[in-house]
Amino acid sequence: MTDDLDELYQTVLVEHSKRPRNFGEFPEAAVHVDADNPSCGDEIHLHADFDESGKVNTLQFTGQGCAISQASASLMTLKLKGKTREEALQMLGEFRELVTEEPATENEALGDLIAFGGVRKFPQRVKCAMLAWRAFEQAHEEWQGKQN
Ligand code: ZN
Repeated sequence: MTDDLDELYQTVLVEHSKRPRNFGEFPEAAVHVDADNPSCGDEIHLHADFDESGKVNTLQFTGQGCAISQASASLMTLKLKGKTREEALQMLGEFRELVTEEPATENEALGDLIAFGGVRKFPQRVKCAMLAWRAFEQAHEEWQGKQN
């Protein structure tokens, strides 16, 4: 079990949880989404801006919780910047597969996100890893709703 936990907290996770990227308030953002994961006590407040086509312009987040939830949010803001809605949702789907299913092949498109592969051994932590991504899905929906 200890080895598995060590694997779970790979360097990239520790690094991102200690020094999260794009962490901070962003009052001018078009959309603000609050997401929480009560079973672990994680909170993510996602601040998102999109261009007219729905491409991700800026993602910032604030929040607190376990290393997995915060590192996942940090990496997500880096990965999704500049992505179209389709690209972002595809990455979301690939990330969900990574943390829930044994992948048949390494998915190179995920890059550093591969570090979260160990989460699949801990079903309760999947919610931690997915929290920011669920917030993003909701943020994009809310933004689209505002366009109509
Ligand atoms: Zn958590």
